[in-house]
Amino acid sequence: MISKISILPTLLLSIAVSFGACDHDKPSTATASQKPAPTAAADTTLPKLSLPADSGPPPTIDSARAMQYVKEIVAYGPRPLGSASHKKVEGYISAHLKGGEVEDDVFTADTPEGKFPVHNIIAKFPGTKDGIIVIASHYDTNYPLRGTAYVGANDGGSSSGLLLELANHLRGKKRDGYSIWLVWDDAEEGMKPESEVAFIDDSLYGIRHLVEKWQADGTLKNIKAFLLADMIGDADLNIDRDLNSTPWLEEVVYEAATRLGYQSHFFDRQNQVTDDHIPFMQKGVPCADLIDFDYGYNNVFWHTPQDTVDKLSPKSLEIVGSTILETVGILDKMDPLPPK
Ligand SMILES: [Zn+2]
Repeated sequence: MISKISILPTLLLSIAVSFGACDHDKPSTATASQKPAPTAAADTTLPKLSLPADSGPPPTIDSARAMQYVKEIVAYGPRPLGSASHKKVEGYISAHLKGGEVEDDVFTADTPEGKFPVHNIIAKFPGTKDGIIVIASHYDTNYPLRGTAYVGANDGGSSSGLLLELANHLRGKKRDGYSIWLVWDDAEEGMKPESEVAFIDDSLYGIRHLVEKWQADGTLKNIKAFLLADMIGDADLNIDRDLNSTPWLEEVVYEAATRLGYQSHFFDRQNQVTDDHIPFMQKGVPCADLIDFDYGYNNVFWHTPQDTVDKLSPKSLEIVGSTILETVGILDKMDPLPPK
């Protein structure tokens, strides 16, 4: 789950954005007229990007296997914090990462619904370059919907299955580039309905903990980019340009999609999304949230029992997975990366 402010049809490729125009104080019912206003102090120009001509052969992933992972995660049923099925999915993800370098970030979150165990799982694939690219997905499902048939096939399931396939892609290979850390983060979803508690005050528990931990141990300064995948399995795939992400990194994502011939699935819409990247943005890490926040007409399947695997497509997993890997390939060869 995420929170959004506006959906703006756009043809703009160069956007005036200030991160200060985030949505903490705005109602979630904001309309398209509430375009974030650039401030006089904001730098509204993108840095000139020096993109490598060659980012290597196009990446390939096994989209059928990625979809199988999604189905198996969803088959455990709703996976809200504290549930038996949540525990099983933790075990499922960890079992697929056995033998590799894995960090478990386990803690207790104090939420409006009480204290809950939270478990972030991080799989690390070392590279030859100094620096880390994080690719993240949450795997929990919405707590207020725990008594329903809601299984979050797209919301949490699709991206978590895709990351397992990205792990297969990365495993056992020498990376001539940045280290890649895959993060299955927990407790992204709000515990109370948004009508009762603002999403930003009651969500992102796992990722906020990880940011603090990585700041304390010095990891954070080595993170070159944070790529987030959320709700990326929709068969009708249209990834939003997120105005809360880092503009230059969004441009690299678009370049990657274009190189693969997938650009028609990207950035027809723009949106201002509150999601797992926000705590990293607030610490100055370049972020790109890859999210399709139009799941069914007017997003009607989002956070409903209709968020089921029949709405998803392995092709969408392939488009997003390959675009993420191509983005990494471009970042590996951009030297230096633009300033944060
Ligand atoms: Zn959600």
